[in-house]
Amino acid sequence: MSPLGLAFVPPAQAADPDVAIIGAGVAGLTAARALMAAGKSVQVIEARERIGGRAFTDSTTFGFPFDHGAQWIEAGKINPAMAIVREAAAKAMLDRSEQALYVAGKELSKEDYERFEKIAHAATRRIAEALKKQPDVAVGPLLVPQDPLERLAYAMVGPLEQGVENGDLSARDFTRQPEAEPQYAIAEGMGAMIARWGAKVPVKFGARVVRVDSTGAQVTIETTAGQMRARTAIVTLPTGVLATGKIGFAPQLSAARREAIAQLPMASFNKVMLLFSRRVIDAPAGRNVTGLTGKELAFDTIVRPAGREAALVFVGGNHARALEEEGSRAAVTFAVSALAEIYGNDLRGAVAKSHATQWGKDPFATGSWSVARPGHADKRAVLAQPHHDRVFFAGEATDPVWATRVGGAYASGLRAAKEALAALAAPRR
Ligand SMILES: Cc1cc2nc3c(=O)[nH]c(=O)nc-3n(C[C@H](O)[C@H](O)[C@H](O)COP(=O)(O)OP(=O)(O)OC[C@H]3O[C@@H](n4cnc5c(N)ncnc54)[C@H](O)[C@@H]3O)c2cc1C
Repeated sequence: MSPLGLAFVPPAQAADPDVAIIGAGVAGLTAARALMAAGKSVQVIEARERIGGRAFTDSTTFGFPFDHGAQWIEAGKINPAMAIVREAAAKAMLDRSEQALYVAGKELSKEDYERFEKIAHAATRRIAEALKKQPDVAVGPLLVPQDPLERLAYAMVGPLEQGVENGDLSARDFTRQPEAEPQYAIAEGMGAMIARWGAKVPVKFGARVVRVDSTGAQVTIETTAGQMRARTAIVTLPTGVLATGKIGFAPQLSAARREAIAQLPMASFNKVMLLFSRRVIDAPAGRNVTGLTGKELAFDTIVRPAGREAALVFVGGNHARALEEEGSRAAVTFAVSALAEIYGNDLRGAVAKSHATQWGKDPFATGSWSVARPGHADKRAVLAQPHHDRVFFAGEATDPVWATRVGGAYASGLRAAKEALAALAAPRR
């Protein structure tokens, strides 16, 4: 406070950027690129030592690109993320692998494939009909499995697709999502493409934001690596990070926004990459195998990706969370056992290298993506509202259509950049 008891507001510095952007994931990088193209100065502030956030390609561990996070661009004809592919002049590869289904190590019979298809259609119909009668409903009570085939089909709705159990899945939020076909993978890896595409954006690395204060003439941002000011700010943090309460806001976030953050928790979805020392899987390259183990645990896998002697196993929902708690060895053991049920115990001794992601334990992600709790799909729009007219919110969780995906992060970054531009053009109050 000044001697007169007035809040002391330091004058704007010539070096203060027009927009401070918190988080160098797809949303932050998109906003930064759009604002830079509009002639505005930006500074991105990032807690990690790299850009890309939940899109990260590890190209060293296995000697080929392994996307720990985002990997595919689904609904490629309409997905806003295809703009990144164009802007980066990247190579997108159409992914058309057929899905093979297994229960307890055995592929479904022709009759069971037909029955499975009917179960899947009936599930979609039941969800659509429930939504005609009420604004939202949990998917769980609509899909109560009576046998292993139904258990597998229903696991492919919530846990393996959305990273949550069906009981925690909002039917409204789930049906908002466009169909997955056509789906594209990126030759160099999704994370590598995004790192290349965002490379010219100015980023302050290793700076964890702890407070955003917009009560003064400038927005003041406190980080673990010092303080900075800007005329406006864009916050792109995952909802799970916002929910930790480790980032203070002045003025405080509205009760409605805090409720939105609480009702959009993070899903749990992880990957296990296994590299084999020799050919142990007798299957065509890139085959998508989805199954239930003998213990009725659901998994999804791409075997022999790009013809390599490897397998990429996906787990989701409560099982993924439990494996993460147990540690990465537990996830690797599960992945190996699930594959051994199908392809034989011989592969157990042939694992040359492995890696299990642990997105829930990552303090800068706290999970894989945001999911709306049943009855709360509308909270994405609440989270997307500006805070105190100079702080804007972006990130996958805020997009009404493409939430959970890179496309949502991209679309939200563009939207927040437009909002920041309008605020910068408005007369100062
Ligand atoms: C396993 C997995 C698989 C996925 N697969 C796909 C897929 O195939 N296709 C798809 O479209 N999407 C997929 N996704 C989702 C996709 O990765 C995300 O929707 C998208 O990357 C989110 O981008 P974002 O910018 O909103 O958030 P983020 O990428 O999380 O960016 C936020 C940034 O903020 C930083 N940060 C966090 N806390 C702080 C702090 N206090 N101070 C400063 N910086 C901070 C983070 O480090 C991060 O860089 C997947 C995600 C996971 C985890």
